[in-house]
Amino acid sequence: MAGIYLHIPFCKQKCHYCNFFSLASVKHKSAFVDAICDEIAMQDQYLEKETVGTIYVGGGTPSMLSISELNRIIEKLYLHFNVSEKAEITLEANPDDLNAGYLKALRETEINRLSIGGQSFYDDDLMYLNRAHTSDHAITAIEQALKTGFDNLTLDLIYGIPTLTDEKWRNNIQRFLNFGINHLSAYALTVETKTALSHLIGKGNLPPVDELQSIRHFRILMEMMEANGFIHYEISNFAKPGFYSRHNSIYWLGGHYLGLGPSAHSFNGVSRQWNVSNLSQYLMLKDDKKTVFEKEILTVDQQYNEYVMTSLRTSWGCDLEHIHNVFGKEFALYCETGAKKFIRQDKLVRRENRLFLTNIGKLFADGIASDLFR
Ligand code: SF4
Repeated sequence: MAGIYLHIPFCKQKCHYCNFFSLASVKHKSAFVDAICDEIAMQDQYLEKETVGTIYVGGGTPSMLSISELNRIIEKLYLHFNVSEKAEITLEANPDDLNAGYLKALRETEINRLSIGGQSFYDDDLMYLNRAHTSDHAITAIEQALKTGFDNLTLDLIYGIPTLTDEKWRNNIQRFLNFGINHLSAYALTVETKTALSHLIGKGNLPPVDELQSIRHFRILMEMMEANGFIHYEISNFAKPGFYSRHNSIYWLGGHYLGLGPSAHSFNGVSRQWNVSNLSQYLMLKDDKKTVFEKEILTVDQQYNEYVMTSLRTSWGCDLEHIHNVFGKEFALYCETGAKKFIRQDKLVRRENRLFLTNIGKLFADGIASDLFR
């Protein structure tokens, strides 16, 4: 089954660490909704009639859309694509948007999974990140979502924030566990170039991010989540059985997906394309029916690299037999040989024909994958 991602590029304010394409203004929101509906119609052949098993409304802050705007977009998708009756339909939401009225109305839509961007249950961390919500907003939003009947929830938390002590991080995880939610995405705070965070740290206005602290937090995270019956099924994702993100699993398992909205990426097995990261240009789509994406055909090396990168990060591991069958014997041998030193260092483990990161290896995932690249 294929997936569809929609990028909603509006936010109340820009978080310091953010390098996603989003604007702190809703001036063009209704023009954007018109444009994305047009794009849905224009791209209706991209997935070649494959059944759509997941829809993910991300951003940006999709919960800034009104219920009628959301319904309009989703109805358009159902009109143009073969959406499975059991599709997982996720909405990313910021806690300050999830009031009781909005949640009740959301339950009447096709949305059946909420991804709540809590990030921390401490206001000083949220201020460091420049999030628009408070800890109280996060707690109330989760409680209300559960009360409204959303039983498929996921929470985002960020670790490695300089204001987040080890004890506070443990408390954040414990708070998540106390809610009884079945899925957690936890990300290390990274300082991307050209973000406000990079600028503020550079000028000495905010304390820098300490890599050793992030490593400690990652270890605490793995220990606590494993002890509480969660499966670490992707490097940043933990779930109870039956609650894996079906949409993100499409990315990690090399499935096909269509991305709609500015900056969204698409992949159909052979080519990758990405929309312009510019709202004015994206809006021209409506009037001019212009192409708003760039496209590249992936070389075999790029396809192999992408497979190694994504598969190694998952609990399904990197399958040498799959590499042999899809890319050929030489690629499988190359990967197997390259993996040997990491197996000796206890960073990778081999079970039958699959390679898996060990808990130590997970700390070096990107470096290990790039070492196995062609
Ligand atoms: S809410 Fe998300 S997309 Fe918006 S600025 Fe913050 S991190 Fe970026």
